[in-house]
Amino acid sequence: MDKKRLDNLKKLILYCKNNIPLYSKLYSKIDIEQINTFEDFKKIIPPISKKQLLNLNNSSNIDLGLDNNTQGAMFLRVTSGTASKMACFYRSEKEIEQSAERFYNTYSKYLNNNNKRDKVIIINDFTLSYIFARHFSKCECLICLGNPFDLNHTVNIIKTAGCNVIRTTPPIALKIAQMLVSQKYTEINKFFLAGSGLSSITKQKLKDYYPQAQIHMQYGMAETAISLYQCKHNLGTNIYHKFNDDFFYEFIDDKSNNITKTDDIGELVITKYTHENPLIRYKTGDICQLKDICQCGKQNIKLLGRKEDQFKIKGIVVFKEKIDKAIYNTKKYCTGEYQLIIDEIEENGTLKSKLALYIELEPKYEKSDKHVKTKIKNKIAKEFSDNFMITEDYSWSQGIELGIFSKVDVIIKNELKGLKIKKIIDKRYSY
Ligand SMILES: [Zn+2]
Repeated sequence: MDKKRLDNLKKLILYCKNNIPLYSKLYSKIDIEQINTFEDFKKIIPPISKKQLLNLNNSSNIDLGLDNNTQGAMFLRVTSGTASKMACFYRSEKEIEQSAERFYNTYSKYLNNNNKRDKVIIINDFTLSYIFARHFSKCECLICLGNPFDLNHTVNIIKTAGCNVIRTTPPIALKIAQMLVSQKYTEINKFFLAGSGLSSITKQKLKDYYPQAQIHMQYGMAETAISLYQCKHNLGTNIYHKFNDDFFYEFIDDKSNNITKTDDIGELVITKYTHENPLIRYKTGDICQLKDICQCGKQNIKLLGRKEDQFKIKGIVVFKEKIDKAIYNTKKYCTGEYQLIIDEIEENGTLKSKLALYIELEPKYEKSDKHVKTKIKNKIAKEFSDNFMITEDYSWSQGIELGIFSKVDVIIKNELKGLKIKKIIDKRYSY
């Protein structure tokens, strides 16, 4: 099996080198005959990020050969610009169909149960919605499309159509669920979410709004469509399994070395086994932790967040997950949406780490007077600081006592929603 995969991979690399200008440039000095094992493949073929692809391509349209391919339909997919630059990837009809098959094979068992067809509302950016519609139509669900830029209109569609399944990002799911519950809509019983991780506070709030609802997470991206899935043991977590038939997965550390041990952390690097739009050793920018084998027999992969969502505080690497855990403790007052600005400040002659936390208040506190709001802000700052653990046994509050951290500023914002809001902004590196 591995031998066959390796042979296919070598053929793919050769095809890319000979036919796709971008890869011809990238592999000009590479001798493919030197690749005899997967280890050779990792050593000889360089991993490549979206930013590098864009630079090699001299255009924001990343043509991986499909432009010249007359077989099947073509679709352009615009990514959200996490590499600080927008990019278009071509997608073929065949790839979209394969993505729908992967979805069908892993998620269809949760749909249309008890002989009742699920009515799905898809609320994503419009090109993505097309792909997700294909996923759900493969499973024979009824589908309608919402508008992520007009949630009031979307709520009306849900109510009129009688939708019971919401397919969107976690932040939009939270907002829509809140709006639907306030209008006494009770039909929602499934969420299919992707686009960012599921924080404990978002999960808790969705459960509060719709206690019976199942939460399914998916992992995918513009470049590869659905590329990790959850089995029944991991529903509603940030733990996933791989599609080993369609992709080759690696996890690499800062020095591009492969990580393989349980609990090790590295960036997901993905290779598509396909001549359609080939991506070879593509650095996804998503940071994962290798976990033990699941009850179903597959390896567990925990998604920790985007590469840009990790940062260092006094030399210690901190992941977004730790912030999410601290935010969870503010759930009495806040919606769960937040943005955190990291900075440094000089206080009494000492350079201290400084945080500004932007939050959205729960609707019932929105109309409170200034005095009450100040009290609430102080409570949020305390809860957050006590529970923001920089290491296992060392919180932000303890850092304040030791004089190395400054106190957290809490700022109330009315609207923090967005398709993919940047949750963490590190001002220390933007000068
Ligand atoms: Zn499993």
